Amino acid sequence: MAEHARDLSKTLLLSGNEAIARGAWEAGVRLGSGYPGTPSSEILPALVALGDVYCEWSVNEKVALEVAAGASVAGARCIVTMKHVGLNVAADPLFTMAYTGVEGGLVIISADDPSMHSSQNEQDNRNYARAAKVPMLEPSDSREAREMTMRAFELSEEFDTPVILRPLTRVCHSDGLVEVGERQEVGLRGDLAKQPEKYVMVPAYARKRRVEMAERIARLVALAEEDGGLNREEMGDRSLGIIASGVAYQYAKEAFPEASFLKLGMVWPLPPERIRRFAAQVDRLFVVEELDPFLTEQVLAMGVAVEPVDESSRIGELTPERVREMVTGEKQPPAQAEAGLPPRPPTLCAGCPHRSVFLALRRLKAFVTGDIGCYTLGTLAPLEALHTCLCMGAGINEAHGIQKVRGHEAPVVAVIGDSTFTHSGITGLVNVAYNAGVSTVLILDNRTTAMTGGQVHPGTGVTLSGLPGRELDFEKLADA
Ligand code: SF4
Repeated sequence: MAEHARDLSKTLLLSGNEAIARGAWEAGVRLGSGYPGTPSSEILPALVALGDVYCEWSVNEKVALEVAAGASVAGARCIVTMKHVGLNVAADPLFTMAYTGVEGGLVIISADDPSMHSSQNEQDNRNYARAAKVPMLEPSDSREAREMTMRAFELSEEFDTPVILRPLTRVCHSDGLVEVGERQEVGLRGDLAKQPEKYVMVPAYARKRRVEMAERIARLVALAEEDGGLNREEMGDRSLGIIASGVAYQYAKEAFPEASFLKLGMVWPLPPERIRRFAAQVDRLFVVEELDPFLTEQVLAMGVAVEPVDESSRIGELTPERVREMVTGEKQPPAQAEAGLPPRPPTLCAGCPHRSVFLALRRLKAFVTGDIGCYTLGTLAPLEALHTCLCMGAGINEAHGIQKVRGHEAPVVAVIGDSTFTHSGITGLVNVAYNAGVSTVLILDNRTTAMTGGQVHPGTGVTLSGLPGRELDFEKLADA
């Protein structure tokens, strides 16, 4: 994408991630922060390539969101990128930022991974939008990824709220034609005035902001009812009506091109009157969505009858065939391209240095608490060396817990990579030292974030922009 960075006012073939970067750049974003995680990792490098924007790999998603929170208070438009599980790490600031609101527009990219192509779970982050009371947009393709990113900045500033954009793996990593424009030069908003009632969330101020949040949500619902750009009706054959958003809309459109659609670009909050009106115009109404019955439950709660679908459709990615099956109840043959393809599960590279570590741990008959990274693949045959792998940074803490209740019954070894150690392993190590733990911790330091494509981190001493940064010394840290 770098060679197109100054190639303005034309149509480009962009991945969803590149389109998000492009939309942010055109919207005048001044700061991008994030932590690499498939399928979101390419957004910030694409933004760096476009120029004019300060970007950083922060040590984890919570830090990334808090850096952006500061820049937003200072009046700058900011984008924060992460994969779906990263939002768990960033949830603490997210829930309170919904109260404080923003100064400069703040857009959070939560790239979700149905079917767990490269993730430990397939949580549906639409639930975060409702729980945190933050509007969420869901693009269906690269074109919408750019447009919705730009719109998200406007909504963020107009409604004084962070906005979550939720692209799925198939949007992030698919290419599509995108009409691009020039970068808007957006100045810093406000004058950094002291506003404790807005930005210091002690109970007395938070209670007032809670009421303002409710008013904001009501205004967002009114927008969702009227806005033809975010949500739209596509009336066709009225014997079948489908409510869908994001990639699920594409599958449903391919499966039933003649049907009537209510395509939702904003998946929270929803427009009840619009949904009721649409439902009244069709004979049978289906909600086609991947993972949780997030839209279905809300539509049912509006008193709108929705046709039931098989619960098995709630697991994994949909396809046009699965959507046909959901609606007709008839088993569909798999798509031609899928039939007969050999499975290609991820595996450690042939010469990966982690292999010998796991071989040694197996020989020691160690109980190995693993972590998230390439080395998680040490669980596969023939190494089969891991006993646990829970989430980023958990391995050190699990080893500590095991040691506290089992003592020296078996050798327990925590295995963690260098990037994951800086993400959330350091706090675990501090906890072990503080609580007189004696766990063995192996930091597999290959000086990169290998699993997600070789991104830099504090241990490498190089920043995302390629500038020298202070290099974290793991040995000195462990000594301390
Ligand atoms: S990319 Fe991952 S699996 Fe391959 S050699 Fe590097 S650490 Fe090992």
